[in-house]
Amino acid sequence: MLDVNAIRKDFPILEREVHGKPLIYLDNGATTQKPRCVVEKIEEGYYKNNANIHRGVHHLSQVATEAHEVARRTVQKFINAEHAHEIIFTRGTTESINLVASSFVDQFMQKDDEVIISTMEHHSNIVPWQLQAEKKGIKLRVVNINEKGELDMEHFKSLINEKTKLVSIMHVSNVLGTINPIKEIIDIAHSADVPVLVDGAQSIPHLGVDVQALDADFYVFSAHKIYGPTGMGVLYGKEKWLDKMPPYHGGGEMIASVSFDKTTFNELPFKFEAGTPDYIGSTAFAEALNYVSAIGMDNIAAYEDELLHYAMERMKTIENIRFFGTAEQKSGVISFLVGDIHHYDMGMLLDRLGIAVRTGHHCAQPLMHHMGIEGTVRASFGIYNTKEEIDALVAGVQRVSSMF
Ligand code: PLP
Repeated sequence: MLDVNAIRKDFPILEREVHGKPLIYLDNGATTQKPRCVVEKIEEGYYKNNANIHRGVHHLSQVATEAHEVARRTVQKFINAEHAHEIIFTRGTTESINLVASSFVDQFMQKDDEVIISTMEHHSNIVPWQLQAEKKGIKLRVVNINEKGELDMEHFKSLINEKTKLVSIMHVSNVLGTINPIKEIIDIAHSADVPVLVDGAQSIPHLGVDVQALDADFYVFSAHKIYGPTGMGVLYGKEKWLDKMPPYHGGGEMIASVSFDKTTFNELPFKFEAGTPDYIGSTAFAEALNYVSAIGMDNIAAYEDELLHYAMERMKTIENIRFFGTAEQKSGVISFLVGDIHHYDMGMLLDRLGIAVRTGHHCAQPLMHHMGIEGTVRASFGIYNTKEEIDALVAGVQRVSSMF
């Protein structure tokens, strides 16, 4: 499937210790570690190829511009977008959703029109819509989930009406691990002429994504969750939407011409990329995508699936454990609580054993509220995790439990 020992050697951070113990990094849902090639690409960018892009006639500027545009084409190929200009570089998933929330609502929505989200959404796919609701009087409709943490598809269908102008749903839940039936959701929405934005923050590192096969209208994700740099992300949008949407930020690069009387805007993708973009970040991001592509997204999905199943089986043996998210289709994360041990206590004591997990509400407070809890302990997996690390997690959780 994949050679995990060889992969681990590409990630220097995995050699370090935490509190005198070998690091076991199980917080990949929050951010992934970076392979050497990505860090070296950043170094190469600043040491050898640094110049502001797009308007320079000199050699370095042209080299940097070409690298940035090659990065765009790398993203295009990675998600199989039809056009490179449908790839907008942003600071990450959050900024991508805010961009769509602002520009799409401006162009296509009136007071009382509705956006459908779900109970399991990350705050990044709730708050931008609430800001628009305050400003423009649009309404949010929220799809229920069942006790396994799966979307209630009948409820989803029942929410679609003539006021529905957009569906904005996550592909994979960062808390429950649920893989939502996103193709089915898109097909249902399209049959009512409603476009769909997919929050791909947690799917992009784990599943192969083909935006044309999905027929997604918008697909958004962050580089740092797929072994790339922080502060870099993508808004994929179909040309037919992006073309009609007004700019989000004003400034350099996004204009065609400016006078004090009138400004005209640049074409896609530049219309949405005001200011100097992170052209070093984009090339490092492309390096990360090349890195995972060389391993193969199918291999990654199969390996991580095996890890997840192994982890679920092993963790079931822990006394008094409760899992949050037991969907049939699941990826990447396991959320749990043991007895009445507070998630912070569990996280802090696991940390003393060198095991990094995340605790708390995971930026999904409405979901926590729905489940009647304050937070969970979350172990989330990446391509470098091993079954031995899962054994260590299980032993660690058992040890912490025995202390209470
Ligand atoms: N959406 C989901 C499902 C996430 O898991 C995250 C990050 O955890 C985000 C959005 C926000 O991503 P970022 O902070 O990179 O913008």
